[in-house]
Parts: sequence; C-alpha cells; structure tokens
Amino acid sequence: MPPLYGWRGPVHNGPERAVAALNAREADLVNQINKTFAVAAPPFVTVPIKGSTAVFPVHRIYCVGRNYAAHAIEMGHDPNKEPPFFFQKNPDNLALDGNFPYPPKSSNVHHEIEMVVALSRGGKDIPADKAMECVFGYAVGIDMTRRDLQDECKKLQRPWEIGKAFEHSAPMGEIVPASQIGHPTKGAVWLKINGEFKQQGDLNQMIWKVPEMIAYLSGLFELYPGDLIMSGTPSGVGPVKRGDLIESFVEGVGTLKTKVV
Ligand code: MN
Repeated sequence: MPPLYGWRGPVHNGPERAVAALNAREADLVNQINKTFAVAAPPFVTVPIKGSTAVFPVHRIYCVGRNYAAHAIEMGHDPNKEPPFFFQKNPDNLALDGNFPYPPKSSNVHHEIEMVVALSRGGKDIPADKAMECVFGYAVGIDMTRRDLQDECKKLQRPWEIGKAFEHSAPMGEIVPASQIGHPTKGAVWLKINGEFKQQGDLNQMIWKVPEMIAYLSGLFELYPGDLIMSGTPSGVGPVKRGDLIESFVEGVGTLKTKVV
C-alpha cells in the first residue's frame, strides 16, 4: 500500500506526475480515499531536501518579528524593550518554484530575507538546552510582506494576516539538513535585487537565537515535526516590483533566486 502522503502528491512538486506514477491498483486506492472526503482535500505541502529524494512535509510556518536590532529600529521600535513575538503564515503560502507573483490589493510589497529553521521534532515547553535536538535543517526564505496593508493593521490594531499570510508570501529554497552543515550561528545574510545589495546582516545579530526562539515558541504552541520557523530579517527591507530578480543568501545554507512576476 502506498504511503498516504503520496495520494495526491506534493502540492508544489507536480501532483500530476506523482499520480501518473501510481500503478492501477494504487490509482484505485486514490479513488477510494478521495470518496471519503466530502469536498476536495488539500494536498500536502512539501519542501525538497538537499541531497535526498525524501521531501519535508510542512506542518506550520511560524515567523519571528523584529529579531535583528537594526531592523527593529528601522521599523520604529526599541529592540531592547521587546520580548519575542510571533505570527504565522500558512503552509500553502510557500512559493517553491522560483517565482513570486505580485499580490493583489497592495502597492508596497517588501522583501524580508530570513533563515528558515525546519523542525524534525516538537513538543511543549522545550528547554533551550534541548531545543537544537528538534532542528532538522535550514533553508533560505523570504517573508514577503504587503507593507501598506500591514501598516494599516498596526494603525488600527488589527491582526497582520492580510499583510503577511497571503498566497505565495513565503518564497523558500530547499532544506539543507543540519547533518550536512551543522547549525549556523554566524555568517552573512544578504538580499540583492537585480544585483544590488538591499539587505546585509549577520546571523550573529539575531536578538533571540534559534534555541531561545524554539523554547519560547514551544511555551505558546505545541510544536510538531514539519514546523518551519522564519527567524527574522536584518535591516534594509524595501519594496519589490514585477520583473525584479531577487537573490537571497544565508552563509552555510545557500542562495535562493526569486523572480517577481
Ligand atoms: Mn519577517
């Protein structure tokens, strides 16, 4: 019997191909499974893993706000006064095909380069000194933000969803296992648009380090294998426009190329 996660195939990895690859008996099973859902079931969201044919199934996407002092300051906040705070994107907001379709209802969409932490284990109230045991690997991601809508949410004291959790709002590259690269704690983080530097920072500038953010987050939510944490952005955030080629880099993890379409 094929594993259930393959029954419609990964959303971003060609479900048609995956389904076509199933043999007749498996296709029959797919039909039987489909009949158990009252409406079309959402496909699993999966991310490719460097050096592996296995894929990473995504449970949730958490994002850390204002985690680099210089970015907190550029957004008008005092980095010394704030405990960490979090918001979420939806797993199917991931954009894994190298394209970022410019979203509707905004004329000021900002890039935020972030290192993404992928969890292999979860739990509640995970102590910081055990937190790294939960980390599967890392990826390069962009927390795309409808800044104009987010600013309006801030002003009106409304939630940030429409600014943060929209379609394709999380371009991301393949996950690189920690077993290959270890756990990066320092190294360059930068983002270029059309070859020009826009954001430049260092992983060692994070206010809340990876184990601390896992510990803190696990006090608020029960974490699970498949969770992704976008770890915050250095300063230099700014607008993108259609036609831009964005290059995002995290030292030790890799480079992500994204076309704004
Ligand atoms: Mn961000």
